[in-house]
Amino acid sequence: MNYRHAYHAGNFADVMKHATLTLALEHLKQKEKPFFALDTHAGAGMTDLGGIEAQKTGEFRDGIARVLAHAAPHEALAPYLAALKALGCEGESPTRYPGSPLIARHLMREGDRLSLCELHPDDAAALRALFRRDPQTRVHESDGYAALKAMLPPRERRGLVLIDPPYEGRDEFERVAAGIAEATARWAGGTYIVWYPVKDPSVSGAFLDRLEREGPAKTLMAELYIRGSEDPSRLSGSGLVIVNPPWTLPERLTSLFDWLADVLAQDPGARGRVEWLQK
Ligand code: SAM
Repeated sequence: MNYRHAYHAGNFADVMKHATLTLALEHLKQKEKPFFALDTHAGAGMTDLGGIEAQKTGEFRDGIARVLAHAAPHEALAPYLAALKALGCEGESPTRYPGSPLIARHLMREGDRLSLCELHPDDAAALRALFRRDPQTRVHESDGYAALKAMLPPRERRGLVLIDPPYEGRDEFERVAAGIAEATARWAGGTYIVWYPVKDPSVSGAFLDRLEREGPAKTLMAELYIRGSEDPSRLSGSGLVIVNPPWTLPERLTSLFDWLADVLAQDPGARGRVEWLQK
């Protein structure tokens, strides 16, 4: 495991992923009944943007820093930006960026539950320290794919699963597709948000083709490209597969990702793309 998310925290991919996560969690909060959230690949929780890793790539400067510097952010970003502000990430030169565990935890109410899986010992230790006094959050230093079997369906019977692996291994798309099949067979009613990188579009395209052929019903795909030029050595964009999206999400993401494409563009080919894989 070489992947360290601190190099990428707050980049364009975190922005599109975390903005979508907040919209889905806000939707769950429209009903009083408690929900369960599972983050299968949780990361460390908080990144110091002044740290060596974040400074080395500077990716956050072309991600969250551009959004925070914008005079009129898209309306769908309101809950995400409110969460960031509450967690100490604000202003044109943010000094810290919260990961999915802290963002999800910020949106929870009394009675909601969060389970976090993280395999890297340092990141798992950081998560344990962050949540040590929190009875609503459990940290597991264990495999997130195994949690899709062990923790689903949750007793609440409503909630969300974020699957956000590092895609270090060649088989990660395969593991994710198998994980989605396994999880939705156990718990068909949950909302699943699955992040994937777009470097070589034929690789991510094969993954989407597979989900279109044999994936679960009600599956949406939302992609954000920050550049049109293709260079398989770096991300040209990233996507989310969303199973059982809240009914308002397709329209909101279409508008939001068009806005993000404008604000986060690296070249004129930047664009958003939202489509149903299975309706
Ligand atoms: N979800 C985080 C966020 O949005 O802030 C970022 C997670 S990062 C992309 C992926 C994380 O998965 C890394 O911290 C890595 O150590 C961890 N990881 C890799 N393989 C794993 C596995 N099989 N189970 C759980 N965690 C894993």
